[in-house]
Amino acid sequence: MTFELDSKRYMEYIARAAKVIAQNGDYVTSLDAIVGDGDHWVNLNNGFTLLLENSEKLTAADISGCFKQIGMLMMSGVGGSSGVLYGSAYLSAAKAAAGKNSVGYEELCACLESMLEAMMQRGMSKPGYKTMIDALYPAVNAYKKAIADKTDEKQTFCLVKKAAEDGAESTRAMEAVRGRACYRPDKGVGQIDPGAVTMAYQIAALCDYITEECLS
Ligand code: ADP
Ligand code: MG
Repeated sequence: MTFELDSKRYMEYIARAAKVIAQNGDYVTSLDAIVGDGDHWVNLNNGFTLLLENSEKLTAADISGCFKQIGMLMMSGVGGSSGVLYGSAYLSAAKAAAGKNSVGYEELCACLESMLEAMMQRGMSKPGYKTMIDALYPAVNAYKKAIADKTDEKQTFCLVKKAAEDGAESTRAMEAVRGRACYRPDKGVGQIDPGAVTMAYQIAALCDYITEECLS
């Protein structure tokens, strides 16, 4: 069994991610209050609210156009580093999906990889710098490995979700090289990175959505 994610489905996933983000405001804000300036959740929640407000327009586009519009909305409507990073990531995914009405199993992996590359380039970041990259990078790697291993698709999304969640948790032990935590004397060691947590929420919501709505 396989799947195709078109704009309608992608926006159904966005609605799920928006809900998880909305429900975890106090937790994410408490994390960012320690290592950052406390606005990460507000920035991202504003962005997802904006996406939902534009749902009709986003659903009407093909998947590449949907990614492009998400990128532009994130870029203009989300404050902080997150807006620029997610904006760049989605504009890059739009290019990876150029001309496509929907993306399938392997194409989705290519889109996620292009998002990762755009974020690393825009943020001048690498895995291990204690940022949102530390949730996305292991998820993309798990996805690529699952494709190479011909893993069952449902199993793939279990592995990808776990990799993102473990990746977010792994930031606790890291010394920050990017983001506001790097200005702290302790480099945030002992604290989990809020951007990695919200990235893991989004990846988990995507994996759950595909598993529950597209593969069953
Ligand atoms: P700001 O750092 O401008 O206050 P946000 O509060 O919106 O931005 O987001 C903070 C999150 O952004 C951090 O927790 C981290 O995950 C991520 N981040 C910050 N700077 C970078 C960077 N250069 N590369 C990758 N991710 C980054
Ligand atoms: Mg901030």
